[in-house]
Amino acid sequence: MNLIALPAFTDNYIWMLHDGRRALVVDPGDDQPVRQALQSRGLELAAILVTHHHPDHTGGVDDLRDVLQGPVFGPANERIPTPSVPVTGGETIDAAGFEFEVIDVPGHTAGHVAYVHRALGDAPILFCGDTLFSAGCGRLFEGTAVQMHASLQRLCALPSETLVCCAHEYTESNLRFAAAVEPDNLVVREHQQTCRDRRAAELSTLPSTLALECQINPFLRCREPAVRAAARAQGALDDSEAAVLGALRDWKNRFK
Ligand code: ZN
Ligand code: FE
Repeated sequence: MNLIALPAFTDNYIWMLHDGRRALVVDPGDDQPVRQALQSRGLELAAILVTHHHPDHTGGVDDLRDVLQGPVFGPANERIPTPSVPVTGGETIDAAGFEFEVIDVPGHTAGHVAYVHRALGDAPILFCGDTLFSAGCGRLFEGTAVQMHASLQRLCALPSETLVCCAHEYTESNLRFAAAVEPDNLVVREHQQTCRDRRAAELSTLPSTLALECQINPFLRCREPAVRAAARAQGALDDSEAAVLGALRDWKNRFK
């Protein structure tokens, strides 16, 4: 099984999973990178997974129909290109022979879903769209901090070795924010250097792992005293994890 991040636009990734013959892609905002990857590797496109309705995640779906040999899966409660198979979370789907568990993760959008592939003996692979980023989380366009907190907790319940495949390369700016929230977090500092080196070599900082995210991602660390204190200083009304997350998210929106 092969996992590839196809860069698209300025900072999107279209994730591709393939077995050497059949491939599926997640959130194809653009068809060109997908076509090139299929062609150069001699793969057949057997399924498309969509996490949410934003155009940078769905824009290439209809353009890929002429090469697509199977279904498009997408959130039931959002408007995505049709025909598609609606998913809501809690079910297991078969996409191109790959099994996925669907998780309901509202917050960034109201119907956002995530997909987890668990293969025996390998680390689970999580496609989380714009819900969980490395060292960050998505903006709350349609949902609340309470929803985003619950969604992130649902993802954190997955095994710690889970590979986190986010839809954007936002890691370096997220880490700058994480360092402002927790100036004494040495894992953040170390990972900043790692990511600086990777980006300088034109490599992706992804996938991350849940284990690493639990150490560096302030939005998963709302219980930490240092994170709470920082959120309080930025206007969090109480120490509840959702209030802390909401204050962090507002702060991140203003953070330069
Ligand atoms: Zn989005
Ligand atoms: Fe996006």
